[in-house]
Amino acid sequence: MLPVVAIIGRPNVGKSTLFNRLVGRRIALVDDRPGVTRDRREGEATVGDLEFIAIDTAGLEDAEEATLAGRMRAQTMSAVEGADIILFVMDARVGITPEDEYFAGIVRKAGKPVVLVANKAEGHGGTAGAYDAFRLGLGDPVPLSAEHNEGFVDLYQALNAAIGHEPPEEDEDEEDDGPRGPLSIAVVGRPNAGKSTLINRLVGEDRLLTGPEAGITRDSIAVDLVWRGRDIRLVDTAGMRRKARIQDKLEKLAVSDSLRSIQFAEVVVVMLDATIPFEKQDLQIADLVSREGRALVIALNKWDLVEERAGAMKRHREAADRLLAQVRGMPLVPISAATGEGVDRLMEAVLQAHEVWNRRVPTARINRWLEGVLEHHPPPAVRGARVKLRYMTQTKARPPTFVLFGTRTSVLPESYVRYLVNGLREAFELPGTPIRLTFREPK
Ligand code: GDP
Ligand code: GDP
Repeated sequence: MLPVVAIIGRPNVGKSTLFNRLVGRRIALVDDRPGVTRDRREGEATVGDLEFIAIDTAGLEDAEEATLAGRMRAQTMSAVEGADIILFVMDARVGITPEDEYFAGIVRKAGKPVVLVANKAEGHGGTAGAYDAFRLGLGDPVPLSAEHNEGFVDLYQALNAAIGHEPPEEDEDEEDDGPRGPLSIAVVGRPNAGKSTLINRLVGEDRLLTGPEAGITRDSIAVDLVWRGRDIRLVDTAGMRRKARIQDKLEKLAVSDSLRSIQFAEVVVVMLDATIPFEKQDLQIADLVSREGRALVIALNKWDLVEERAGAMKRHREAADRLLAQVRGMPLVPISAATGEGVDRLMEAVLQAHEVWNRRVPTARINRWLEGVLEHHPPPAVRGARVKLRYMTQTKARPPTFVLFGTRTSVLPESYVRYLVNGLREAFELPGTPIRLTFREPK
C-alpha cells in the first residue's frame, strides 16, 4: 500500500503545477466525465525513489461562486481525512494570507504529518515569504519551485522524514485566537500588601475576609465577576493568604504561592505597598511573572497613605524600570484598595496589558523596522565574524514571541539581544509584556 499524500492550500499557490510535476503523465482523473465537476485528481507520484499516491485538491475555482468556499472547505477536509501525509502549499512570493491561515487551521487539527512547501521560490525569490510561513506552526517550510523544478531534493528529504513521522505539535497558541473565556487575573504580592482588600472591592462582597492577621482568607480557587461588561476571573485566591505558621517561612511561601496563581492567569497584578520601597521579594515575584510569560501590571497600593505623591510616583517608576528592565514600561497604577481610589484605572490597565500581550505585529512592519535597525545599529563583529540578521517574524502571541533568522547569531552579545528586544518593545508598543526572541539559521 502506497502512502497517500494530499496537496492542500488556497487557490493559486501552485498545487496543480506541483501535482503535475509529481505525477508526470500518470494522471488518473477520478471523474472526468463531461458535465461532472471534477472534484479531485489523484495519481501515482514519485520523487526520487519515493512512491506515493498524490491527491490534488485544486480545480474547484470552476465551481459556482456562491458555493466555492464551502466546496473548497469540504474538499480539503475530505482530502485531509483520507491522507497519510499532508503537503501544505503556500506562495512564497505572497507570504501568508488569512486564507492560508484558514487552511492551515484545518490541517493542524488533523494532527497528521505535514510537509510545508513554500512554492514559487525559484532563484531565491520569495525568501521572505518562505520565512513568513514559519508562523503557520506547521514546521520548517521547504522552498520549492514547482514550475521551474527547483528544490525537489529538499522536498524528497522532507517527505521521507514525514513518512513514519510523528504528527506535528499542536500549536496551542492558534487555538487561543478563537473565542475567549473570561480574562483571568491573579493578584499576587507580599502579605499585607492589600490583595484581599482589592479582591473584596472587585467582587463587591465580603467573600474574602480581610484583616491585619495574615492567613484568614477562606480557600477558593477562583472568583468570577463582571467588570464593565467584561467577564473576569480572579484565579487562585487561595494561595495568597495561606497561613504561614512560622514567620520566617512567610517570605518563601509568598513567592511559591504566587507561582501557582501566576500559572493560571493571563494578567498578573503585582501588588506593592506604596508606603515602603521595593523589596527583594516584590522583585522576585515580578520576575516570576515575566519568566512565566504573563502580562504584568503593578499596583501601588495604600496610595491614601502617601503624602508626597508626585515624588513617590517618580521614585517607584524609576525603581521599577531599573530593577525590572525585562518588562520595562510596565503599567504602574497607584490605588487605594481601601477607599476604591484608582481601582477603575487599575482594571483599565489590566485590559490594556492583556491587549498588548495578545498583539500580533505584521511581518512586513517587523522587517521594515529590522532594516532600520541594521542600518543604524548593526550587530557588532565578534572575533572578526560578521553576524548577519536577515529576517524576523512574530511566531506567537501571549506573550509576543519573535524569531530572527540570521547566520552566526549564537555569538551575538547579550547586550545586542537586549537592544533588539527593547527596540521591538518601543517600535510596536509592547510595554510591560515579556517579549521572547529566538534565533534561527536559515537552511
Ligand atoms: P493551484 O490553484 O494551487 O492549483 O495553482 P496552480 O498550479 O494552478 O498555479 C497557479 C499559478 O501559479 C499558475 O499561473 C502557475 O503557472 C503559477 N505557478 C505554479 N508554480 C509556480 C512556481 O513554482 N513559480 C512561479 N513563478 N509560478 C508558479
Ligand atoms: P493581603 O495580605 O495582601 O491580602 O492584605 P489585606 O488585604 O489583608 O490588607 C492588609 C492590611 O492593609 C489590612 O489591615 C488592610 O485594611 C490594609 N489595607 C489594604 N489596602 C489598603 C489601602 O489601600 N490603604 C490603607 N490605608 N490600608 C490598606
